[in-house]
Amino acid sequence: PTSTAVLDVAGLHAGYGKVEALHGATLRVDAGQIVTVIGPNGAGKSTLLNALAGALPGGGNQHGQVCFLGEDLHGVAIEARVARGMCLVPEKRELFATMSVEDNLLLGSYRRYRAGEKNHADQMPVVFDLFPRLRERRRQEAGTLSGGERQMLALGRALMAKPQLLMLDEPSLGLAPLIVKEIFHIIVRLKQTGVAILLVEQNARAALQVADHAYVLETGEIVLQGPAAELAHDPKVVETYLGLA
Ligand code: ATP
Repeated sequence: PTSTAVLDVAGLHAGYGKVEALHGATLRVDAGQIVTVIGPNGAGKSTLLNALAGALPGGGNQHGQVCFLGEDLHGVAIEARVARGMCLVPEKRELFATMSVEDNLLLGSYRRYRAGEKNHADQMPVVFDLFPRLRERRRQEAGTLSGGERQMLALGRALMAKPQLLMLDEPSLGLAPLIVKEIFHIIVRLKQTGVAILLVEQNARAALQVADHAYVLETGEIVLQGPAAELAHDPKVVETYLGLA
């Protein structure tokens, strides 16, 4: 891998017990980039992100190579991957419903706190600047937030860890079109803060608009890839994923 690769994945297989869901994925994310993986329901997008995070049950029978910031992650546990700067925002958001917005954010910096970082909460003002709505609602219980606000909180909590790589699993899922627009706008602003982003989406149109590079995943295999702006004009992508607008 070259020095600019944040994530370099080669021939990654993973699955559930004896059932393989990912059949040899090869991809990379360079520093400062948004890279998207688009594809239909059940293609293996979540499996890919969970494999990279080290979060598949029983390790997910993984083989292949995953290099993060130049280091092989083979055998590295989920906690240690987080400590190295990898952060997954799962599809289900996984917030603590009865805790306040602020306390949910603080949990995002818990590992830094445990590591003895005195300024473990230093990203709180940054998060509140990105999401003024969270600042207004800092004392509100997370369980009472709207869907869009919950996604903002999930993103904000991830940022509290000061990650090098953010992995976003379908951030637009279940959100109204206007909120989806807002979330993607924020994703671009996140990129401007310098964090590399691996974005998994079924909303191909929005994902291709914000991404630098894109991969198409179908039934566990990467079938197409290229600069996002080029893939957005690829006839197969247009027909299958963008509809005939
Ligand atoms: P979606 O957008 O619907 O989440 P996806 O592209 O993220 O789709 P995955 O969730 O990664 O797809 O699923 C890939 C394959 O793995 C599917 O065939 C799915 O049924 C299977 N799978 C996912 N989770 C499990 C699990 N916990 N146990 C067994 N099989 C699973």
